[in-house]
Amino acid sequence: MKPSEFLYHAPTTLDEAVQLLGTLEDARVLAGGQSLMPMMNFRYLMTSHLIDLNGVEALTRIEQRGDRLHIGAMARQRDIELSPLVIQRAPLIREAYQLVSHKQIRNRGTLGGSLCQLDPSSEQPCFTAALDGVLTIARYEDGALTHRELPMSDWAVMYMTPALEEGELLAGISLDIWPAGHGYAFEEFARRHGDYAIVGVAALCTADAQGNLDRVSLTICGVAPGPVRMHDVETALRGRPMDDTAVRMASDAASALDVMTDAHVSTDYRQHLAGVLTERALKRAFSRVARQS
Ligand SMILES: Cc1cc2nc3c(=O)[nH]c(=O)nc-3n(C[C@H](O)[C@H](O)[C@H](O)COP(=O)(O)OP(=O)(O)OC[C@H]3O[C@@H](n4cnc5c(N)ncnc54)[C@H](O)[C@@H]3O)c2cc1C
Repeated sequence: MKPSEFLYHAPTTLDEAVQLLGTLEDARVLAGGQSLMPMMNFRYLMTSHLIDLNGVEALTRIEQRGDRLHIGAMARQRDIELSPLVIQRAPLIREAYQLVSHKQIRNRGTLGGSLCQLDPSSEQPCFTAALDGVLTIARYEDGALTHRELPMSDWAVMYMTPALEEGELLAGISLDIWPAGHGYAFEEFARRHGDYAIVGVAALCTADAQGNLDRVSLTICGVAPGPVRMHDVETALRGRPMDDTAVRMASDAASALDVMTDAHVSTDYRQHLAGVLTERALKRAFSRVARQS
């Protein structure tokens, strides 16, 4: 199949891109094309204007600003995975990317494209939520480029639908940098290597000099339209030793989650996976944590 007819636009600045998106009727942006192009070719999706963001250099940066890691929406997944800064400051991301599709797809696919596609089983919204992601959204308003910021917790409106208004695009993502020596792990179950996770779990933690947890982040994907942060568990684990009781508390809570179901995976099986993968992720995160004095 071939896509329906569309006009192609190739802006080179963010200003130009949002202006096009804000003024053209029935326009859509193209990032890595790994999800969009097949959908257009099958005509699941038709658009009158395609705005290609691949020439907007300013959206590809990966940099640290204070205690946050900033990743442009057009940064390639493979560039993020291999970035020395990301490996040093947010090793969870590298671990998660090793489970995302295949190198060839990560060479083209972008973090921004994945967050906008918002597949419930994707590892990328999951690690973004785990690292307290804040999204920068750009639009053209009153003849000028404007921005707004949105926490990742407010990003998923419903199934595969992010909180983007008409004329808006995702410009960048900022992520929390955890202290050196933090524990981390990403665990998932997928049918084959490179497939989307059926369920995935991201865990992060730090511990004090006595070995008690002083900060925990636990996020589960594949159970709801957006990643689910287990805030109650995170609070309950604070101050507790990194032991089997802590792991059990978390995995019991995960397996009791009210999860979505579909034609392929039953509710029971998803809950089972959530519990088992939480256990594995926390155990590995605990094993990596350095005690902070
Ligand atoms: C075989 C295969 C296996 C895969 N396996 C996995 C996997 O295991 N895990 C995983 O996470 N992903 C997986 N993916 C998806 C991959 O990560 C894609 O890269 C991702 O879904 C879309 O990113 P993209 O940059 O290609 O976006 P595109 O396909 O270009 O765009 C996707 C959608 O987002 C919109 N969009 C893109 N960028 C922006 C923006 N900045 N602002 C507003 N809207 C935007 C587009 O208009 C489009 O609707 C797989 C893909 C394939 C083909």
